[in-house]
Amino acid sequence: MARQRIERLFMLAEKQFGEHPERSDRYIQLARRIGTRNNVRIPRELKQRMCKHCDSYLVPGTNARVRLRKRYVTVTCLTCNKQMRYPYP
Ligand SMILES: [Zn+2]
Repeated sequence: MARQRIERLFMLAEKQFGEHPERSDRYIQLARRIGTRNNVRIPRELKQRMCKHCDSYLVPGTNARVRLRKRYVTVTCLTCNKQMRYPYP
């Protein structure tokens, strides 16, 4: 149930991003809080759409830069300029 709410919040974040990117960030913060409170992990594919440093909703090419390395993906958040690494699927 918590997981469904998280997925819904990410969908809302995606919808709002074009016009209200600040709302998207708010949805991400909420999703993260729900995950922490209910001990539910945010699915990997969604996790890559958020910045773990500043909770921004990330859109590659807009406010995030994605680079493929040999074994992992580097995502740079252009809001706080920090990087995240994910194993290459
Ligand atoms: Zn960030």
